[in-house]
Amino acid sequence: MLGRRGLRALGRSIIRVRCFHGSAVFRSDLSSQRLDVEGYLQQRERGWRSTIEQPSVVARAIEVRLRPPGGNDGGAAVAGRPRIDVIAGATTPFEIAKSISGKLAKTTAVARVDGQLWDVSRPLETDCELELLPLDSPEGRQVFWHSSAHVLGLALEEVFPGAMLDDGPPLADGGFFYDVELPGGQAITTADLALIEAKMKEIVKAKHGFERREVSRECAREMFTGNRYKTAVLDRLPGDESITLYRCGELVDLCLGPHLPHTGLIQAFTLLKLSAVHWGGQLQYPAGHAQTPQLQRVHGIAFPKAKQLKEWTVLQEEAARRDHRRIGTQQKLWFFHPNSPGNAIFLPHGTRIRNRLIDFLKKAYFERGFDEVFFVYFPTQLLRLPPTFPSRLPRWDLSCPAV
Ligand SMILES: [Zn+2]
Repeated sequence: MLGRRGLRALGRSIIRVRCFHGSAVFRSDLSSQRLDVEGYLQQRERGWRSTIEQPSVVARAIEVRLRPPGGNDGGAAVAGRPRIDVIAGATTPFEIAKSISGKLAKTTAVARVDGQLWDVSRPLETDCELELLPLDSPEGRQVFWHSSAHVLGLALEEVFPGAMLDDGPPLADGGFFYDVELPGGQAITTADLALIEAKMKEIVKAKHGFERREVSRECAREMFTGNRYKTAVLDRLPGDESITLYRCGELVDLCLGPHLPHTGLIQAFTLLKLSAVHWGGQLQYPAGHAQTPQLQRVHGIAFPKAKQLKEWTVLQEEAARRDHRRIGTQQKLWFFHPNSPGNAIFLPHGTRIRNRLIDFLKKAYFERGFDEVFFVYFPTQLLRLPPTFPSRLPRWDLSCPAV
């Protein structure tokens, strides 16, 4: 629902949305001090329509140097010059890829323009160095999962009218999620996942593109007044940062991008699980911390081909079979307790093994000239506690790189 403060600011007045490259006028249709989610979506849509596409840069022939994608040719390594005339503000990386080969266009996930990741559907603007990064490159995979999260977000809005989306990023080690709050304290159940997946299939089949706009902060704020999570994001952004929006189907979201050319590339996906999170992605807060709304996190994984999803599923099953947490518990080496999440409590046999490992490590360190230090480590990011050390110790990065 739209925040009341924002609502009072809007009232019944004519609202002028001043956008990055123009302005438009629409009438607020707020008949009371309560705006439902449908009103929020309508306002977001009107705001989007009031924006105009990026102004074309001056159309002129530009020089583009093609580089092979760094470190991973993915069957799509290209170098040299585009095989078409490239016009600033008109020619996209996708068109350049297509001019080289249809396969290259189909397998390119994202472009890199002078070092910056760039939508393949976004026109080039100036002389540049261009890389066409395939779906199986590290950058391509992240863009793929990022775009998959938009598909999930759109499905959530359509399956659950009134769903309020928070954050939906890709994960560094694979997959994506979306945090969402349902109205009236409703909750998504595991039985609902099939419904969401069915909607995602429709979205994939529709091959929605990802349309990019740059808007003013004022424009973005008015569009997202009804979503406290998005307005919080806007509050956190530096004042001089431009605001970019992306549209995928009916979903308009704050996003830096870039994305896939269209949703049709997301051929195989599955939703994995649901979990509860607090606003800001925190799993839990320490006692006494101000309570904030609880959201649900929907996790998913996606691939360009069904075969890849099958292979990933087999790997996950193998990993579960070898899960040290389960095996160690079965062998009575340790156990876990809800009061100490993530921390194994070692039993006598497990403690003996642990001590032998520590003895081995100490010996190896001493032989290499290290001395011991000791401190108590708190998971500061989880508990939001101050860091144990205010600054790095000498050679800290070498002796304990994971902290
Ligand atoms: Zn995005």
